[in-house]
Amino acid sequence: MANRAYNFNAGPAALPLDVLQKAQEQFVEFENSGMSLMEMSHRGAVYEKVHFEAVNLLRELLAIPDNYKVLFVQGGASTQFAMIPLNLRGPGTSAAYVSTGSWATKAIQEAKLFGETTIAASSEADSYKRIPAISELNYSSDVAYLHLTSNETIEGTQWTEFPDTGSVTLIGDMSSDILSRPIDVSKFGVIYAGAQKNLGPSGVTIVIIREDLIVKPSVPVPTMLRYDTHAKADSLYNTPPTFAIYMMNEVLKWIKANGGAAGMEARNREKAKLIYDAIDGSNGFYRGFAEAGSRSLMNVTFTLANEELEKKFVKESEANGFVGLKGHRSVGGLRASIYNAVPLESVQALAEFMRGFQSRNG
Ligand code: PMP
Repeated sequence: MANRAYNFNAGPAALPLDVLQKAQEQFVEFENSGMSLMEMSHRGAVYEKVHFEAVNLLRELLAIPDNYKVLFVQGGASTQFAMIPLNLRGPGTSAAYVSTGSWATKAIQEAKLFGETTIAASSEADSYKRIPAISELNYSSDVAYLHLTSNETIEGTQWTEFPDTGSVTLIGDMSSDILSRPIDVSKFGVIYAGAQKNLGPSGVTIVIIREDLIVKPSVPVPTMLRYDTHAKADSLYNTPPTFAIYMMNEVLKWIKANGGAAGMEARNREKAKLIYDAIDGSNGFYRGFAEAGSRSLMNVTFTLANEELEKKFVKESEANGFVGLKGHRSVGGLRASIYNAVPLESVQALAEFMRGFQSRNG
């Protein structure tokens, strides 16, 4: 078997080894078709089976109600930052955003290109160490929508429950925690996520959208940036990223075989606890970045006493087979991303390495 690193990359990130090996087996010739899946038409029956299997598995695993469409688009979650306002707010309307960290800020910047953008709540004054309480949210009932970022990948904070927004459409950027736990899709008008953390390789972006929101935009919008274009064509309006969708389908099968969304949550809680326990039991040697109630199960962020020690930690961790533990360049510190496919053994090894590093340097 391949010599696999302890992979804590933030995205693209670890994929299940079983999936990689199956893809390797099927790479040159897909199911007696005489060619690789990447060599065939996206309009043919062989590819279409994979495409719709992925749609249906997502529906099943997230218990997506019948009045929602699942779309596969390109351009990453970053393109959704623009598609959301382009499609869902008419001229003169305002939209509300929860400012929780680096990714929410990017979504807000993009929204401002399209009209009045209000901040329903912000934790900026607390260096984005926490997710605002639902009771802090303050937005007008006539906003086009309220947008939140369910997991802030860089700061390592995560919403534990979502607001009931009544008649206001709730939108969730779930790029870094989709299918890591069960969610109530019906609370949201739109959920979007790049696949490259919990669902597969990069190249495909998932949009789950309530059917009544799939309308002709009230302003001219390029065809490829319209939800109705992709919804009408079952995400086959143009050439989809066929290999990324194939890989995602295999990851979805793996998630199903491992207990679905609830199974993922149980695994993810167990993994996160190992690292947070190593932080909390370190007498302040490791300092968790996020406030306790806002800690992410996906991205565990922490710091050491000084940058020099952090550099030493990264260097020694790399020498011991760990990859991806350096924090994002914008906030520094350290970060362990422990998405669905990161094995428990990797996390156990990290917790052990952390204790060893502390005893050598504490
Ligand atoms: N939102 C969140 C929460 C993210 O973590 C990321 C990627 N790290 C993005 C948006 C941007 O995604 P993409 O690179 O697919 O555009």
